[in-house]
Amino acid sequence: MTRILLLGGVTEALAIARTLGPQHIYSLAGVGRVPSDLACQVRVGGYGGAEGLAGFIREQRISLLLDATHPYAAQISANAVAAATLSGVPCWALRRPAWQPQAGDDWREVADWSHLVQALQPFKRPLFTLGREPLQHLDEIPPEQFWTLRALEAYPGNPRCEVIGARGPFLIAEERELFERRQIDVLISKNSGSSATEPKLEVARERGVPVLVLKRPDLPEVDRSFASVTEVLAALSQLAYA
Ligand code: NAP
Repeated sequence: MTRILLLGGVTEALAIARTLGPQHIYSLAGVGRVPSDLACQVRVGGYGGAEGLAGFIREQRISLLLDATHPYAAQISANAVAAATLSGVPCWALRRPAWQPQAGDDWREVADWSHLVQALQPFKRPLFTLGREPLQHLDEIPPEQFWTLRALEAYPGNPRCEVIGARGPFLIAEERELFERRQIDVLISKNSGSSATEPKLEVARERGVPVLVLKRPDLPEVDRSFASVTEVLAALSQLAYA
């Protein structure tokens, strides 16, 4: 019988985990909430790299590795492919389609932090929605800028930056209020994809606010790639996996 190791950390992974029976394992890094109402086993924490993951796959007699991690979680996706090769199991992946700019959008792709800093120069009141990474740069804020950072948890800011702790999904009315109250003049975002619409991007479009989009990392080829939970579940249903 198929035994799945599902690498998760995003909403779609949890939706897949909810369909898994007790012989399967749902694996989380441990940075977010850990569900306690699943029929499958839940494992929390890293493996110590690709070799550690391969060792776990062999030890637990896993027969299919399913990577449903976030598109910017490039390390675990690379480890997954390497570990699957080392342990001789197939690796499937849910690869979220990227958001596409629409009419009225002013999106500017930035490759990394240094490009982002350059692209930010004309602006005064950026809203960062990249998670915790910008926290490392709070001492580098130019005197003419005031940053608003949104992360999962609140952190101390400084006179040039406020850090808001908040977990999505966010309503469009909340995003409108945030942009208005803070007079946001540029949005910084990953291209996370998934939901059809993303309120912060809609509000940026409405207000003519440019968006600096952090380039997606390159992810390795897998044995089978899927664009949605529905596609994954259809493929799994062929395996008598539940
Ligand atoms: P990452 O850089 O690709 O991974 C860092 C390390 O975390 C991995 O090498 C692995 O440790 C461990 N890890 C990651 N996902 C794991 C999983 N599902 N099960 C067990 N260990 C895991 O990942 P990240 O960007 O820090 O993201 C961490 C987790 O948060 C991911 O699972 C991702 O799906 C989720 N997430 C990330 C983002 C984002 O923007 N990056 C957004 C939302 C959710 P070892 O090498 O020790 O095995």
